[in-house]
Amino acid sequence: MITIKKSKTSEALKDAVEKISGVDLSVCLQCRKCSSGCPVGKLAKTRPSEIMRRLHLNAGNELLESDILWMCVSCETCSARCPMGIDVAGVMDALRKLALSRGASKQEGNVPLFNKAFLKTVEVFGRTYEMAMITAYKLGTGKLMNDTEKFPTMLKKGKISLLPSLGGDRKTVKRIFKKTKQNKGAGI
Ligand code: SF4
Ligand code: SF4
Repeated sequence: MITIKKSKTSEALKDAVEKISGVDLSVCLQCRKCSSGCPVGKLAKTRPSEIMRRLHLNAGNELLESDILWMCVSCETCSARCPMGIDVAGVMDALRKLALSRGASKQEGNVPLFNKAFLKTVEVFGRTYEMAMITAYKLGTGKLMNDTEKFPTMLKKGKISLLPSLGGDRKTVKRIFKKTKQNKGAGI
């Protein structure tokens, strides 16, 4: 059974999510196909279909503290499986944005550190560069030698490379980051 707390901001949250994601929350059938395909659904306290239901029922900012927001790996399986064509992953994105802008984010463990390391490598190299990301992350955690035994296998299987890829449009990516920082500074 789903219970939600009444909140003065409840309607605003639903409206804000619909505006950012472009999703009409009222068309959700609650079939739960999004949850059954979600790779992190079983690990999270709140599953995607529950997020959809709570939003539809006008949940307030407490929803922004849901653990799944920061466990979600943006694989878009939920969106692909939805019989109503709802972009559930887009809803997750919208909720993350709102969690950050409303100061309601409850990122646990090293998630913020990982996000920072990931985004920094994309900003500098124009795309993910795993070696730099892992090094920055491990330096941040202070556990530089953790999981090093996996490194040779990953290298051998081509899951990781020593040098960054020089493809892609670095200038455009840098411009996107610059613009985003400017917008953030302007409170957009
Ligand atoms: S798969 Fe779509 S319709 Fe079904 S519960 Fe998830 S969002 Fe709702
Ligand atoms: S995008 Fe996120 S919520 Fe959707 S299936 Fe993937 S991990 Fe789950």
